[in-house]
Amino acid sequence: MTEGAPSAAVVSVGNELLFGETVDTNAAWLGRELTTLGIPVVRRYTVGDVAEDIAWAVREATEMTDLVMVTGGLGPTPDDLTKPTVAVEFDLALTRDDLMLETLKARYGSGGHDEVPLAARVQAEIPEGSTVLENPEGTAPGILLRTRNATVVLLPGVPREMRAIVKGALRPHLEAMRPVHAERVWHHVTHTTGIVESRLTEQVEARMAELPGEIRTPVGVAYLPDVYGVDLRFSASGVSRDEARARIAPLLDAIDEVVAPYRFECASGDLAEAVSTELRNRGMKMATAESCTGGLIAKRITDRPGSSEVFAGGVVAYSNRVKVEQLGVRVEDIERFGAVSEAVAHQLAGGVAALLHADVGIGVTGVAGPSGGSVEKPVGTIWIGTSVRGEVETFLGHYSGDRETVRARAGQAALASVYRRLLNASKG
Ligand code: AMP
Ligand code: MG
Repeated sequence: MTEGAPSAAVVSVGNELLFGETVDTNAAWLGRELTTLGIPVVRRYTVGDVAEDIAWAVREATEMTDLVMVTGGLGPTPDDLTKPTVAVEFDLALTRDDLMLETLKARYGSGGHDEVPLAARVQAEIPEGSTVLENPEGTAPGILLRTRNATVVLLPGVPREMRAIVKGALRPHLEAMRPVHAERVWHHVTHTTGIVESRLTEQVEARMAELPGEIRTPVGVAYLPDVYGVDLRFSASGVSRDEARARIAPLLDAIDEVVAPYRFECASGDLAEAVSTELRNRGMKMATAESCTGGLIAKRITDRPGSSEVFAGGVVAYSNRVKVEQLGVRVEDIERFGAVSEAVAHQLAGGVAALLHADVGIGVTGVAGPSGGSVEKPVGTIWIGTSVRGEVETFLGHYSGDRETVRARAGQAALASVYRRLLNASKG
């Protein structure tokens, strides 16, 4: 429809999406996939299993964009209305596709016609002039058709099947649509942790304001916070990644000083990956003694394949008895300073590293809430100790939020501390 770069819309069909029973992961996946191919998704529609709503969304989408991806409502049951509705909307007769029928027969156990359930036989009907897109994961194939304004692709709702078709049979059609020399938007993400969004924004914006307009303006900047930290996403257009990078680079230089103390680098954006990589590069192993985080840090590290190279083990040191008997925390210190104290975090970190013969130890002890807080040590008070090659450092954190959030933030802070120490040690 448009001159120049093509654009796409996603139409998600299904009552369950409107009711909130199913999260629309298809639209998210298609958004990423198509943007990467240079056909950005500019609109999304979500409609129920209602013919006139499906027709409305598809009609409108074809008027606004060049490629309309419809997911859902393509099965053999009576609530699957996408195919007949789209056929009526664009005045296309449904005709039986013999090849499709053969495929269905094979799928339903081969043999005579009777073995394909009647309900399933409608799946062999396709709008005239359309192209069948093989579904290697299920019985409902994708269907590609061209309307006056746009290309319309009908896809099953089951995410696995939808993806297989897009990656497989649809791929050459998408390749043919993508502009050869057109610019597309590229992103660079800087991951930070340990600084709140408002402060980061203030400092970053102040630095970028010093840049000349022709350098600052072509780059979009987004601040994306979650409980673990804030991602800074820079977006610039270019015909190649390098060209976009060149546009983004001056901004990264300008803010380097501000973000350096909080930045970590890894593809996934998961600090546990960044820590694992640094440990691996140094041939080091880590061990954890977790009280209030209850094994969260150990889980995050061991979620990653290959973690045995970098992780010795962990102790969930919940009771004082475990802290004392397993990890060598001094009873007198618990009595004198309490279990949530610098002394205990210190001894947990050093103790677990020694016990499990690890180069790095983490000790976490705190009040995750919602109960258990006091005036002196309110909910969110967490002492964290890190031991690197026998040298222990401690710090006190105050984390806000519910129990889950406090624990997540404390675990992240402990990993951040290890990450900084490993980087600084290799610098020094
Ligand atoms: P359908 O093709 O409408 O029969 O959808 C089959 C199944 O796919 C549904 O029961 C949902 O579980 C799932 N599904 C449908 N649409 C989506 C979507 N947009 N995102 C994620 N899952 C979906
Ligand atoms: Mg459905």
